[in-house]
Amino acid sequence: MLVVDGNALAGPLAEALGSEPTTVLLRCAGCSALGTLARSRAYVSAMGSVARCRDCDTVLVTVVEGPDGQWVGLPGARAFRAAVVDPR
Ligand SMILES: [Zn+2]
Repeated sequence: MLVVDGNALAGPLAEALGSEPTTVLLRCAGCSALGTLARSRAYVSAMGSVARCRDCDTVLVTVVEGPDGQWVGLPGARAFRAAVVDPR
């Protein structure tokens, strides 16, 4: 196994996030449901936003506005990947 710094994950991470974040597929840690970010239920406030699983209400994604920028958390997303685009 080759050990390098985190720059090695830049390409795979950019590929997984894709150019349209709402189409990213998230695997819920609470119920294992797989769905796009767009399918989640979002609660938005001036302090930040939370996206919850539509099936079990687990908090999938948090976005908090801080003085130095946004902080994104994935407390209830076990994994994510770019959505597969249907070539048709
Ligand atoms: Zn769930």
